Amino acid sequence: MNRKYAVRSVRLCTKDCLCLYVCPTGATDTENSVIDISRCIGCGDCADVCPSGAISMVPFVYPEQQPKVEKVVAAMDTLLKSKAQQERIAAALPGRLAKALEMSNRIMAEDIVRESGYMLPQSGNSRAFLQSLLDEPQPHKFPRDAVETLLELLA
Ligand code: SF4
Ligand code: SF4
Repeated sequence: MNRKYAVRSVRLCTKDCLCLYVCPTGATDTENSVIDISRCIGCGDCADVCPSGAISMVPFVYPEQQPKVEKVVAAMDTLLKSKAQQERIAAALPGRLAKALEMSNRIMAEDIVRESGYMLPQSGNSRAFLQSLLDEPQPHKFPRDAVETLLELLA
C-alpha cells in the first residue's frame, strides 16, 4: 500500500486547534507550522478533524504519469511558453517583488508539467478516482448523479 503523510496549508490553518490534540505522535505540533513528516504515521486523524480543511494526506509515491494526448501537449506548450516569457520579463526587473514573480512563474511552469500528467480526463486515474467515490460510503447529499454523469462522459 502506498503510504501517505499529512501536509498543512498554512494559509488555511487557524492555528492551535484540533489536530494538535488528536495527533498520536505530536507531528502537527510544530513551531514553524510545517507538519513533521518524520513523526507522521499517516493515520489521517488530523485531516479528518481539521475544521478548516487545512490538512491534506499526500502519497509518498505518486502514480505514474499518464501518456499525454496531442491536444494536452499543445496546450501545455502554450502555457509553458507564456510562463517562460513572464519569468524572463520578471528576471530583467529590479527588486524583491520581481524576484518573487520570477520564482513563482518557474514553479507554475513546473506544476503545469507535473499536473498535466495525472488527472487527465482520458486517463484511467480519473475514472478510477470517480468510481471509487461511487464504491465507497459517502456523506448525505453526496452528488452521486454528478459523478455518474462524469463517468459516462469519460467512457
Ligand atoms: S496523519 Fe496522523 S500522525 Fe500524521 S500528522 Fe496527522 S494525526 Fe499526526
Ligand atoms: S486542526 Fe486545522 S486549523 Fe486547527 S491547527 Fe490543525 S491544521 Fe490548523
